[in-house]
Amino acid sequence: MATPTRTPTGFSGLDRPAGWRRPRGFVSPAALERPLGSLPGVGASLERKLRKLGLETPADLLGHRPHRYEEAVPELRIGDLVGEEEVVVTGIVESVRSRRARGRLTIQKATIASAGASIPAVWFNQPWLVERLPVGSEVRLRGHVRRGEFHVRAYDVSRVSATADFAPVYPASEELPARRLRELVEAVLPEVRFLPDPLPARLAERERLPSRGDALHALHRPGSLEEAERGRRRLAFDELLVLQLGLARRGREREAAVAPSLGTPGELTERYRRALPFVLTPEQESAIGELDVDLARRVPMQRLLQGDVGSGKTVVALYALLRAVGAGSQGALMAPTETLAEQHFLTIEGLCADLGVRCVLLTSGLPARVRAAAQAELAAGDAQLAVGTHALIQEHVAFHDLAVAVVDEQHRFGVQQRQALSGGRSPHVLHMTATPIPRTLALTVYGDLQVTEIARPPANRRPVITSWVTESRSSEAYRRLRRLLEQGRQAYVVCPLIERSERSEARAAEEETERLRRGELRDFRVGCLHGRLRPVERRKVMARFKARELDVLVATTVIEVGVDVPNATVMIVQEADRFGLAQLHQLRGRVGRGAEQSYCLLVSRAKEELTGAGRARLEALVRTTDGFELAEVDLELRGEGQLLGTRQAGLSELRFTRLRADRPLLERARVAALELVDEAGPLDDEVERLFGGADDAALA
Ligand code: ADP
Ligand code: MG
Repeated sequence: MATPTRTPTGFSGLDRPAGWRRPRGFVSPAALERPLGSLPGVGASLERKLRKLGLETPADLLGHRPHRYEEAVPELRIGDLVGEEEVVVTGIVESVRSRRARGRLTIQKATIASAGASIPAVWFNQPWLVERLPVGSEVRLRGHVRRGEFHVRAYDVSRVSATADFAPVYPASEELPARRLRELVEAVLPEVRFLPDPLPARLAERERLPSRGDALHALHRPGSLEEAERGRRRLAFDELLVLQLGLARRGREREAAVAPSLGTPGELTERYRRALPFVLTPEQESAIGELDVDLARRVPMQRLLQGDVGSGKTVVALYALLRAVGAGSQGALMAPTETLAEQHFLTIEGLCADLGVRCVLLTSGLPARVRAAAQAELAAGDAQLAVGTHALIQEHVAFHDLAVAVVDEQHRFGVQQRQALSGGRSPHVLHMTATPIPRTLALTVYGDLQVTEIARPPANRRPVITSWVTESRSSEAYRRLRRLLEQGRQAYVVCPLIERSERSEARAAEEETERLRRGELRDFRVGCLHGRLRPVERRKVMARFKARELDVLVATTVIEVGVDVPNATVMIVQEADRFGLAQLHQLRGRVGRGAEQSYCLLVSRAKEELTGAGRARLEALVRTTDGFELAEVDLELRGEGQLLGTRQAGLSELRFTRLRADRPLLERARVAALELVDEAGPLDDEVERLFGGADDAALA
């Protein structure tokens, strides 16, 4: 077997193969932003299919990362070709032409000869080949023989490299096969070599990184897998540098700010501990220990408290808030939605009353009069704690003396951070997230935060038992649900995800509620919760469910976060295959919050109708309740960039980074970013062009 064993000869861009022609004029980055419809042979329908894959410009195409490369296949001489297995051949182009077949289809044929034998080679829809394969040039082809013709899957016009051996395989769609994508990438690839490189030359040199253009070229047409990997690493470096620049800038600003030192814990937090109906877990204790250290300093705390749903973060967050109160200052708890803010308030209010701490709720759903009163109390320092939505607290509350802010479930703290900094004083900030993000990713996304992780839930918690049935057996799921309801438990039924609009989703939830009231759940009290309900109504439904006046809550994903009813021990998720893994995990976190055994029943379409990834998601959920493990699975199934966490963080997609493998690269990008930020002069234009958006991206 003649697998190519050539050593990589640097980047293919260094030795420009015969047949390359430099495009006329300088190719500016703007040219790479033109619509793909401007490429020859790309019509409206193809353009639409491309758009569905997120590919709208040549730049997008170039950024479409192959998820793997074809394995090398044996090399044969043309004279020895028999059978139809995939092989590599080399030869000289004797003739080449392109002709139109039916419709849009064009066929390219070249005669390839070597050692006295020749064979017609066939391509489809690549009219530019005629220019790229001049007669007399040497080519290397990968493909197979069918009816006396060599059908080319990949080709290479360079003598020295073996790019045809490692044909890229792109993430494709049903309507748009990887082969077609390969052809299109091929069409735009020449443009890339003339792109300016935004990375300062001395940095590129020190990091021993290839130019961006060469890296892109190597990514799509590597001469070896090592070359592809080096290209990918350069592109990953750029991505990571963008992120780290944003973080570094933010970090530098923060270092200039000052926060009040809160000293050591006092009597209030002692009483708080005693008032809790349980003992804190060792994980919670160590989180609190870290907070105490932070809060004693005058450097504003920036800590991320990460823990799976139900791991007991809120208890820790309230501790931080009470530390502020104990020191005579104020605390604020900010949630991303009204429902969540209300939930937090319900949890906290009672405890605060017992401790003699005045806590007020601030949401836009409140009557204006009530809200104004709360604002006045906070301004005067009569109320010590505020619970509300981000928007409201940040924009409409002037605190008497805010010392600790807890930001829940969100990563949109940048803006607020800036405002708080403008006076040079900053509160200590604790960010909470229940989105399990693998540690590697956390460093990328929260590189400027200290991370505290609550890895284990309270011990009295039993893992939720999850099972997966297909629709044909959904009546079985409802039978199990009814049995548990008869035992006095409560349940959630999650309605299918409807992407069209919140309105149609709400309507579907209401219809489903009616259907269940008449059908499977006719002997039970069924309520409905969705995003179109007014806050008052929503609160009422939630309160009734909490008070056990309702047995079942039919809901949209609004219950995804925050809802905490320990007696609800069973959940049915309809059409579970439509949800993302992280989302299903969040949903499931609504049960299993008490000491009782809880169940989650996933109902999906027939297994044959599911994609491989869809099946893998549901299997993973059945297998484990560990959020971090699921996050890793998600990472594998979807690629790092699409992880919920990064999207929430508003970060540009991480397309090229492989977080686990790229840890050292990440460290280098951090160092480089700090250097760039500290350099006296402004970044030069090219760097700004590529990296200028970094700040906003990381803060959005
Ligand atoms: P998270 O905010 O991480 O989702 P919560 O703080 O809301 O989790 O806690 C989930 C549930 O577990 C709550 O009902 C809470 O009262 C309870 N809980 C928290 N800490 C403990 C503990 N140490 N022991 C027992 N139950 C706890
Ligand atoms: Mg919580």
